[in-house]
Amino acid sequence: MASIPTYEDVAAAAGRLLGHAHRTPVLRSSTADSRLGAQLHFKCENFQRMGAFKFRGAYNALSRFSAGQRRGGVLAFSSGNHAQAIALSARLLQMPAAILMPLDAPASKVEATIGYGAEVIQYDRYTQDREALAERLASERGMTLIPPYDHPDVIAGQGTAAKELFEEVGELDALFVCLGGGGLLGGSALAARALSPRCKVYGVEPEAGNDGQQSLRLGRIVDIATPRTIADGAQTQHLGKFTFEIIRRDVDDILTASDEQLVEAMRFFAERMKMIVEPTGCLSFAAACHAGLQLRGKRVGILVSGGNVDLKRFAALAG
Ligand SMILES: *Cc1c(COP(=O)(O)O)cnc(C)c1O
Repeated sequence: MASIPTYEDVAAAAGRLLGHAHRTPVLRSSTADSRLGAQLHFKCENFQRMGAFKFRGAYNALSRFSAGQRRGGVLAFSSGNHAQAIALSARLLQMPAAILMPLDAPASKVEATIGYGAEVIQYDRYTQDREALAERLASERGMTLIPPYDHPDVIAGQGTAAKELFEEVGELDALFVCLGGGGLLGGSALAARALSPRCKVYGVEPEAGNDGQQSLRLGRIVDIATPRTIADGAQTQHLGKFTFEIIRRDVDDILTASDEQLVEAMRFFAERMKMIVEPTGCLSFAAACHAGLQLRGKRVGILVSGGNVDLKRFAALAG
């Protein structure tokens, strides 16, 4: 039985990612600073390889496969970015990959996954249990299943983004992190506790699917129906066993953002910072603006998680 990852695992992951993942930029915006009266540091994982932080966890996990596992290849299930991350990592590490994706996944994400050389198998996310399906396929095909968030090597890899942020800008008063299943938040919290122990760490999930917030309040993992939100990377139904243990120990609170607030943040990123951020990637900044926390005079980190959105959909939402 694997155990909960530690900061040492995040540091080891950073070593494996060196020369393979981009060290993404930390951007500033004086407009955002003056709006909140704070000093905001945006860690821009929308500029990561394949367009989101998920490359970090996927590459870290796959680079730890044994020779036998590499021959069998990797199987993953994902609404999008984890699929692309696994597909690209598998190509770089020269192993076969098969990806289970929902029928309503954004076309750009399906195309990109196929473009990276993976086989895509589609399923209905509103009626089929993807986890059971994935387990059955993996054992039939002799592939290793790498889940999108609840895996120690995935969590450790995701933590390298926040590690880079703290190393670049120093300690922070608060860090806002987009939250789906908690791989990014869990890894970020490990980095924060090691590198900036007094930093408040906040997860941010869609208002329509606040299972993480409920889980933290109740002290147990709460399961919900697939939420309907524009934040397609955070339509998870529950936190993971590993991610929940880290979150309840190391995360200060979980906040929510509405779809309307996500659209406003998307527009801000496009107009003011000249970058395309997908709806899920806007969660962190939306909550920093609207969740009512007192940030005046504070040094704040905003983890911008990804930028993969169809141009047509982006125009329809932000236009
Ligand atoms: C997957 C994803 C998230 C959520 O990450 P978790 O590790 O599942 O919490 C947030 N933003 C983007 C862009 C993602 O792809």
